[in-house]
Amino acid sequence: MQFKFYIGTKIIFGKGCLRENKSELNNLGTRAFVVTGGRSGKASGALADILDLFKELGIEYQIYDRVENNPTIENVKDAGEEAARFKADFIVGIGGGSPLDAAKAVAVLAVNEIEPLDLYKNTFSIKPLPIIAIPTTAGTGSEVTQYSILTRRDMQTKMSFGNNDTFPKLAFIDATYTASLPYEVVVNTAIDAFSHAVEGYLGNRSTPISDIIAAQAIEIFGKCLKKLMEDNIDFDIREKLLYMSTLGGMVIAHTGTTIVHGLGYSLTYFKGVPHGKANGLIMKEYFRFNYDSAREKIDKILELLGISSLEEFGEIIDTLLKKEISISDNEYNLFAALTMKQRSTLNNITKVTEGDLVGILKRSLKKG
Ligand code: NAP
Ligand code: FE
Repeated sequence: MQFKFYIGTKIIFGKGCLRENKSELNNLGTRAFVVTGGRSGKASGALADILDLFKELGIEYQIYDRVENNPTIENVKDAGEEAARFKADFIVGIGGGSPLDAAKAVAVLAVNEIEPLDLYKNTFSIKPLPIIAIPTTAGTGSEVTQYSILTRRDMQTKMSFGNNDTFPKLAFIDATYTASLPYEVVVNTAIDAFSHAVEGYLGNRSTPISDIIAAQAIEIFGKCLKKLMEDNIDFDIREKLLYMSTLGGMVIAHTGTTIVHGLGYSLTYFKGVPHGKANGLIMKEYFRFNYDSAREKIDKILELLGISSLEEFGEIIDTLLKKEISISDNEYNLFAALTMKQRSTLNNITKVTEGDLVGILKRSLKKG
């Protein structure tokens, strides 16, 4: 057995955890730069909660609330420059994966005078500022990963950077903050978390520890499915989904993702499909494609979910997600070609060709 296990994040989980652990904010400095989206910080209540604490603790702050969904390089450059001008001591990311990933880039750019594309060199002469992450979606697990996934217009896709210094130092994980999520976002983000667990579990970088974490995440997703399909989401389910999402993040921090995420990036970039939904649309065909290489593990996933077949899995996904995308033959080929260039494609348990990816996409997106 050979493996490494490192999570650079202190996880503080539970209802009211931010206020109860406010002393954690004392050692990070006196100037906080808050990175959030136009809606997530306010709608979740997390922004108001942390500003109250800053006032109590005498911490000065500045808010950047212009993080786009699927943030671009240009977007994080803008935020990074503001953080540098403010002379921030630490960065607080509040939101879904988009603001949390942006916060990691800002933590680097605030103290390093580099072009944003140099983020991808992944070594920085000055250590990134410490990051506090407060998730308001239950999906990406970005609060416990080193990854910052940014939209690269120059490459027509999304690409991640990150190293041991871009793990958030602290994550305050409280399901109170996901109560304001629209149902569609709950579904899409839950499927993202599930795909992290599954891709990590089946991918060829899986480890004994990541498998235990992934199996628990998958089992929890199975327990949430009924209520998720019924749009009957109470605090208990929200908390389970949020826990599952953190587990999923811990998995991919070690294993990376695979072709589900790779193909999904094109659906997001070119077709505007939300990240988790893009993954979900591809997942059944991903299982079928890998079935011969990973039969035992895929059967185990179905068992953990409490369902009997891949067909049943497909029906559940069809209930949760609408397939309303139309794609031309040229686009199928382009998306497959772009996915072949993603590093994560190498993590797939079955070796894939461009033709395989075209087939997976076509079968995934055909209607009816
Ligand atoms: P998101 O893009 O962060 O948010 C989706 C939408 O939900 C946005 O409109 C957002 O508002 C809104 N929202 C968020 N929280 C809310 C709340 N509590 N109440 C009401 N509305 C709320 O979606 P996401 O799926 O969480 O993140 C996706 C991004 O994360 C993608 O860029 C993806 O590539 C990345 N990702 C990162 C990792 C990683 O390891 N770092 C893993 C997987 C995915 P705002 O407009 O205010 O933001
Ligand atoms: Fe994801």
